[in-house]
Amino acid sequence: MVSLGQPQYRAGQLAEWLYKKRATSFDQMSDLPRDLREQLAGRFSLSKTEIVRVLGSRDTTRKFLFRLGDDSLIESVLIPASPALYGSRSDRRTICVSTQVGCAYGCKFCASGLEGFSRNLRPNEIVDQIIATERESGEKIDNIVFMGMGEPLANFDNLLSAIRIINAPWGLGIGARHITVSTSGLAPQSRKLAEQPLQIRLAISLHGATDAVRNRIMPINRRYSIETLLAAGDDYVSRKKQRLTFEYILIKDVNDSEEEAHLLAKHALRLRAKVNLIPYNTVQGLPWSRPSQDRQEKFLAILREHEVPATLRREKGHDIEAACGQLRLQTKRELQLR
Ligand code: SAH
Ligand code: SF4
Repeated sequence: MVSLGQPQYRAGQLAEWLYKKRATSFDQMSDLPRDLREQLAGRFSLSKTEIVRVLGSRDTTRKFLFRLGDDSLIESVLIPASPALYGSRSDRRTICVSTQVGCAYGCKFCASGLEGFSRNLRPNEIVDQIIATERESGEKIDNIVFMGMGEPLANFDNLLSAIRIINAPWGLGIGARHITVSTSGLAPQSRKLAEQPLQIRLAISLHGATDAVRNRIMPINRRYSIETLLAAGDDYVSRKKQRLTFEYILIKDVNDSEEEAHLLAKHALRLRAKVNLIPYNTVQGLPWSRPSQDRQEKFLAILREHEVPATLRREKGHDIEAACGQLRLQTKRELQLR
């Protein structure tokens, strides 16, 4: 606003229109002078994020597929109130948002990485997922998890810009403790995140308690080993004075042995981390499957024997292709879009 020769308070007015009143055109911004509105419309554009598909229904997990200005497809998942997800109160509505189109990290089990990486999302494309989902669902979202498509810490600057908007009182006003960033293991970037003043939560997608298992399913582990990653986690915990979460997908005959459970417990105790066990969602074209219910429960019981706070996610969203990247992949195959 200052560079346009406007008084500073115009910035506040603009933010109000964008994030509180959720204007869809500059024309609606009635307390801005007409010539300024025209100037803005000539230089900038408002959201081109469009919802093209919604799966699921109210009271269940709902999945939103978006088309961006350049026709790329991304997805978000809206998770209804559920007990103690990522440290949140049980009455919170959580959205799982994407940070990249595709993913470059190529974890063997994940649909997001299957077709490689296209590009980083810009800060507004990250924030738009929340605004568009609130508009479509009519619900206020109060918990954000960066667990959609892409590796958030590989899009570090745009992620932080988006978080600032999400957190700011002039933006969406969601407290940093209700924002969780998930990483597959970018140890140096998670140290950088620890240096940020905001009390953002960190989740580590561990999925294996040994380098042997992680090397098999997550190529990133060859760059940053478990020990490197846990040391970075240690650093996060000591700076932020908060618990972190280990995400652990249970994949049959890959990472579900009792031995792996005991080792996972050891890592969790060392970092005072909570463990979220997630039965694997099958992805079309990939050979992996989830262990039997008994085996899942056994794995959980071992963690609890060690007094590790642990949860096992019991069915939510399997039927709507809710694991990251699945809906996009399916839609692309159907529509043969880009
Ligand atoms: N790239 C980041 C964040 C996005 S992935 C990361 O990997 O942490 C979000 C979560 O979904 C990760 O824990 C990921 O491992 C998990 N996930 C991916 N594919 C899945 C599948 N088929 N079934 C269940 N969870 C899956
Ligand atoms: Fe990328 Fe995360 Fe999927 Fe791995 S699990 S391919 S890092 S989105």
